[in-house]
Amino acid sequence: MPGPPDVLVVGAGPSGLLLAGILAGGGARVTVLESRKTPDTQTRASTLHARAMEILDSHGVVFAPRLPRGTQGHYGGLPVDLSRVRSAQAGVWRCPQPELVRTLGDWASHRGVRVQRGEHVVSVREQEGRCQVTTRTGRTLGAALLVAADGQESTVRSLLGIGYAGAPPARVLVQADLHHCEVPKRRFERRGRFTVTAAPLSAEVTRVLIHDPRWPAGQERSAEDLRAAWRDATGEGLPVEPSWVRTFGDDTRVARRLVEGRFVLCGDAAHPFVPIGGQALNTSLVDADALGHRALRCLRTGDPRALLDYQRERSAWLEVLAQRLRVQARLLFDTDEATTAHKARVAERLDTDEVFRAEIADCLAGVDAPGPTAPGGAGNGGGDVVRPLDDHIPEVAP
Ligand SMILES: Cc1cc2nc3c(=O)[nH]c(=O)nc-3n(C[C@H](O)[C@H](O)[C@H](O)COP(=O)(O)OP(=O)(O)OC[C@H]3O[C@@H](n4cnc5c(N)ncnc54)[C@H](O)[C@@H]3O)c2cc1C
Repeated sequence: MPGPPDVLVVGAGPSGLLLAGILAGGGARVTVLESRKTPDTQTRASTLHARAMEILDSHGVVFAPRLPRGTQGHYGGLPVDLSRVRSAQAGVWRCPQPELVRTLGDWASHRGVRVQRGEHVVSVREQEGRCQVTTRTGRTLGAALLVAADGQESTVRSLLGIGYAGAPPARVLVQADLHHCEVPKRRFERRGRFTVTAAPLSAEVTRVLIHDPRWPAGQERSAEDLRAAWRDATGEGLPVEPSWVRTFGDDTRVARRLVEGRFVLCGDAAHPFVPIGGQALNTSLVDADALGHRALRCLRTGDPRALLDYQRERSAWLEVLAQRLRVQARLLFDTDEATTAHKARVAERLDTDEVFRAEIADCLAGVDAPGPTAPGGAGNGGGDVVRPLDDHIPEVAP
């Protein structure tokens, strides 16, 4: 790939690599700038849904060995069978994030993408119709477009001064990984005021998650907080010291705009969603797909207004997803009487109402997302059509 890049992508996570490969496949010269010298080995997300799998398949991303397919997802903690959603890729695909990043990295490199590691972007500006970035090593690079795929704490979004719409997170969740031990399996169990989950992530690792409504928003919790809460909730001690503890907020915010001139936000940089049911990762992959053909059009015509189609479609859809996540967070974590009664009604409908169950399953699998229909897939085929907030998604009284 001789010559300067047409596009700079900041961040070699799932969304940045998928987008970079799509653009390179369309003939663009793409350079990815990534802070980390080596890829992250921690498994953050581990689930791909049907829509994301359709997209990966449609771009020729092949997993070797093939990913194991499960059937069960959940809606606010209530089990939902995803094996019959309207998609050739129906199911829940188990894919630890490092495996996804490795596969996408190899695929993108084959398409001619250059990934430059150890390059942390510290400044951006637009000058005479070009984007310029400077990295911590002192390098300056320019391109016609720059995509910020630099994750939840996006430097580029901050540098562009783009804030979030929506309320900041109110609930606190603590997640941790435990190695080589037995922890009784729990699936979003309510234990007094707590909600607890414990499930195997792999043969060696059990992942636990706990929510205590008394934890103040915005404060990091420690391994000691986790151990104490787990004991209070379950009456059991954690058998080993957790290897990786992290605190999340129930974030459902979306960036106020996704496009600023020739700069575009993609993936977690545009929406730091709470990781419920893999929605954050799966949404990030759909962003990349939705941006790819618009960015190529923009490069072909030289007119950055093609990017506004991406902004229009994705902003509206991200609001729909944020709303769904808010409802799910309430069903998952709130233990007041009204929410508990509502959750029981939703559970009953999932048991007895086939149409309702199918609609919820389609939402979780992402197959009702706007965008070009992948072969054999559902999509809504509408391209720029975005449905309003779904009336079939149950609201929970505040
Ligand atoms: C700590 C953590 C745990 C998570 N756990 C789960 C989970 O359990 N389940 C789940 O479903 N989802 C989880 N998620 C969410 C999921 O990992 C994301 O949705 C997904 O990674 C989004 O992909 P992305 O490519 O948009 O961003 P990321 O994967 O975050 O990739 C961004 C990349 O940009 C790089 N970068 C950042 N700043 C710069 C800069 N200034 N210059 C150059 N490079 C930069 C980063 O090093 C990173 O490689 C978790 C997220 C985090 C942060």
